[in-house]
Amino acid sequence: MPILEIFSQGEEIVTGQTLDTNAAWLSEQAVQLGFTVARHTAVGDKLGDLVELLKEIAERADCCLCTGGLGPTSDDLTAEAVAEAFGLPLEFDEIAYRQIQSYFSNRKRPMPETNRKQALLPQGSIRLDNDWGTAPGFAVPAGRCWFAFMPGVPSEMRHIFLERVKPLLNERFILNPSRLVTIKTLGIGESDIQQRLGEVKMPERVQLGFRAGVDEVQTKLLFPADYPEKDMTALTADMTARLGDFVFGIDGLNEETGNLAAAVDKLMRAAGKTLAVIETASQGLLAAKCLGYAWLHSAAYEQSLSALGERLGVAVEMSDLAKTGELLAKALQNQNPADFVLIQLYDGSPAQFQNKDQTIILYNTLLNRESFQQNRHNLGGPAGRKQNQAALLGLDLLRRHLQNRKI
Ligand code: AMP
Ligand code: MG
Repeated sequence: MPILEIFSQGEEIVTGQTLDTNAAWLSEQAVQLGFTVARHTAVGDKLGDLVELLKEIAERADCCLCTGGLGPTSDDLTAEAVAEAFGLPLEFDEIAYRQIQSYFSNRKRPMPETNRKQALLPQGSIRLDNDWGTAPGFAVPAGRCWFAFMPGVPSEMRHIFLERVKPLLNERFILNPSRLVTIKTLGIGESDIQQRLGEVKMPERVQLGFRAGVDEVQTKLLFPADYPEKDMTALTADMTARLGDFVFGIDGLNEETGNLAAAVDKLMRAAGKTLAVIETASQGLLAAKCLGYAWLHSAAYEQSLSALGERLGVAVEMSDLAKTGELLAKALQNQNPADFVLIQLYDGSPAQFQNKDQTIILYNTLLNRESFQQNRHNLGGPAGRKQNQAALLGLDLLRRHLQNRKI
């Protein structure tokens, strides 16, 4: 497999002010394409360091993906470093210049003279057109290595990689793409997952990894190109079964699930149902996660439980929020035409909500014409985490109901 390196340029990366998300994203892409990713390097704004590194990489790697340093300011030195390292003088690229000009004229802004610098590309390089920002990237062979230089802004970099660089990589290299399967769960931590999966005998050629995000925990399986499809399906099914009701989606086998809200969207559209929700702890975030989904019939945020009780004609009993949730859901259902109603309540003071060391108890009640479901969770951490978890757990209750999972 061809050897690939990733190189991130910028003082902000080296000093820790910007997290190097480009390297992580590009690595995942490169591994899936079938490269062996050998190193990540980050270098600040020193021309000498850049030149030295470029020369080293040209001798030891087959491909190098670089990001950053293509901006208009004097600390953006990548093109200059390439020119010096490989003896390729910078040349003015007329087309690049016109693209930069039209970027500004489309936005009705004057083009600063400093942006002219971005049209200077090393001799013999291929321009990587940037339809998403000002700086074009460029690709150039040197030594045994094929280099692609992309802007640092992550959204621009991703576009240029997918639209410009990836097709060139597929032309230039003989690649056996590996396959990444991601099992996505909510409500179960990494260590519990590892424990549940502990007994699975992992084939040596399959790489297992975990990634805990704010909205989901991912279990990742990386299969080599020649791995038999049926074994891949069987191993994924075995692991999915062990994670049981916590799994809300699997990416990479037949389809991409997206996040939890997207998974619920698919289920709700298939069921042809609508939802009305009253949020408390999530304070509008549940509705925000469902932005643009037509099945969300209505959503309201209520800060005061007693005001909510009054509005729906229910006596609120703080000592029995499970019962109160049930009564509120029934009352809401009587006045709301949605198929499902979801009531979210929580036990905890504003001070407990704010304090990251204290927990609140969340009660979600889901009601439709035929069934009644309720769950209860302790939520801890900073206020923002409690809010987010509350939104996700409400959606997850709906997801579990629609998939006939244990609540
Ligand atoms: P540059 O192309 O070096 O001018 O970078 C433009 C902006 O992109 C920087 O201000 C950073 O915020 C961002 N950026 C640069 N490199 C990276 C990186 N490796 N990962 C994430 N963001 C980056
Ligand atoms: Mg920079």
